Amino acid sequence: MGDKIGIIGAGPAGILASGIAGSRGKDVTLIEKNNKIGRKLFITGKGRCNITNAISIDEFFEYITKNREFLYSSLYSFSNLDIVRLLKEFNLDTKVERGNRVFPKTDKSSDVIKAFSSFLEKNNVKILPNSEVFNIDFKNNKFLIDVGSNVLSFDKLILATGGKSYPATGSTGDGYIFAQRFGHKIIPIKPSLVPMEITESWVRELQGLSLKNIELKAYIDNKLIHTEFGELVFTHYGISGPIVLTTSSYLNGYGLEKSELRIDLKPALDASQLDNRILRDFQKNPNRWLKNSLNDLLPQRIIPYIIALSGLNPDCIIHQITKEDRKKLGYTIKNLPFHFKKFRPIEEAIITSGGVSVEEINPSTMESKIFPNLYFAGELIDVDALTGGFNLQIAYSTGYLAGMNV
Ligand SMILES: Cc1cc2nc3c(=O)[nH]c(=O)nc-3n(C[C@H](O)[C@H](O)[C@H](O)COP(=O)(O)OP(=O)(O)OC[C@H]3O[C@@H](n4cnc5c(N)ncnc54)[C@H](O)[C@@H]3O)c2cc1C
Repeated sequence: MGDKIGIIGAGPAGILASGIAGSRGKDVTLIEKNNKIGRKLFITGKGRCNITNAISIDEFFEYITKNREFLYSSLYSFSNLDIVRLLKEFNLDTKVERGNRVFPKTDKSSDVIKAFSSFLEKNNVKILPNSEVFNIDFKNNKFLIDVGSNVLSFDKLILATGGKSYPATGSTGDGYIFAQRFGHKIIPIKPSLVPMEITESWVRELQGLSLKNIELKAYIDNKLIHTEFGELVFTHYGISGPIVLTTSSYLNGYGLEKSELRIDLKPALDASQLDNRILRDFQKNPNRWLKNSLNDLLPQRIIPYIIALSGLNPDCIIHQITKEDRKKLGYTIKNLPFHFKKFRPIEEAIITSGGVSVEEINPSTMESKIFPNLYFAGELIDVDALTGGFNLQIAYSTGYLAGMNV
C-alpha cells in the first residue's frame, strides 16, 4: 500500500498540492470545511480572479515583499506560464490585461474553479467537503485528523489552510495553531494589502471620491519610504483603493505612529509647471472668487480642503492673490497631508502578513525541517506579495512543490 496523504484546505495551494500529488499516483484526500473548493478564490479579483501575472519570472520577485528568496525554488519549479498551461489543459482560456494581470477570458472566477475541479477529478483526488479539522494528533507514525464526526489517519500531511483575512471564506487562521502544535514558530500575523484609517476627520467628508493618476507618498520620521502612482478612494474611515493597498504592504515593517502620508494630486507637473498652470487658470477669470477658480485643475469636492489647508480665504478675489499665496496652493496640491491612524482589521485585508516561519520549511520541498512528513503551502507561510496575481501564484507554486515532494 502507498502512503496516504491528507491535505487540509481546498484553496489554490491545497488544490495544486492535491492534484499534483494525485498525478504522481498518490492516495490523496483533500479536506475542506466549506461545502465547495475555492471559496476565497471565488471572490478574488472582484469575482474575475486575477489568476497570475504575465511578467517574466525573474521580474516576478520584485513584487514579493517578504521572504522572496524562500520562493526561488517554488516559482522556478512552477511558474506563471505553468499555471496558465495547466488551466488551459482543463479548458480555461486566459487573457492579459493592464499591468500584465492574467484573467480568465470569461471574466468569471467560477470558471477557474471549474477548471481546478476537473484537474482534481482527473487526478483522483478524494474531496471531503463540509469537514472542518478541529485538531491534529500524531501517534504511531500517523497524523490523526479530527473532523468532528470522524478521525482520519494519514502518513503525510500538507497544511494549506490559508491566512486569517476575509474569515467568512473559511480562512480563519487554524493552520497557525496546527503548525505550532508541531513545534513551528509563527511570525506574528498582521493585515497586509489593507485600507488605512486616517486621523483627519475631513478625509471622511470626501467619502466616495475617487482620485485617479495621483501619487501617494509614505513618510516615516519625515523620511520618504515609498511612492505609489495610481488610484485612491476616500471612505468613511480613511482611504482605500489600489495604491493604498500596495502602500500598506511597504508600511508594514515600520513603527507606524510616526508615519505621515501625502498625496500629490498633480504628479505629472513639477512645482513651477503647476504654478504656471494655476496662473493661466487664474488669468482666465481674474474677478472670480478663489473657491470657484480651481475647477479645471481639481475635483470639485476637494477644493475647499485644499484652500483651507493652504491657509487661504476661499472668498478672496483672484486678482488679490499673491505669488506667495499661489505657492502655498501649489505646495498643498502636491503635498496634501494625512496622518495614518491604523490599518483596517485583518478581516478586511487582502492577505495576511506573517505566518509559519520560512526558516523551518525546506524551500525546495515545502517539508517541515522540524517534523518529518509535514508540509506547508500557500498563504499560511510567512511570505507576502503585492496585488497583481502574485499571491495566487505563490499559493500554486508552493502547493506544486508540496504535491511533488510529499
Ligand atoms: C477579496 C480578495 C481578493 C483577492 N484577489 C486576488 C487576486 O485577484 N489575485 C491574487 O493573486 N490574489 C488575490 N487575493 C489573495 C488570494 O486569494 C490568497 O492569497 C489565496 O487565496 C491564498 O491561497 P491559499 O490556498 O493559501 O489559502 P485560501 O485560499 O485561504 O484557502 C484555504 C482553505 O483552507 C480551508 N480551511 C481553513 N481552515 C480549515 C480547517 N480547520 N479545516 C478545513 N479546512 C480549512 C478554508 O476554508 C479555505 O478554503 C485576494 C484575496 C482577497 C481576500
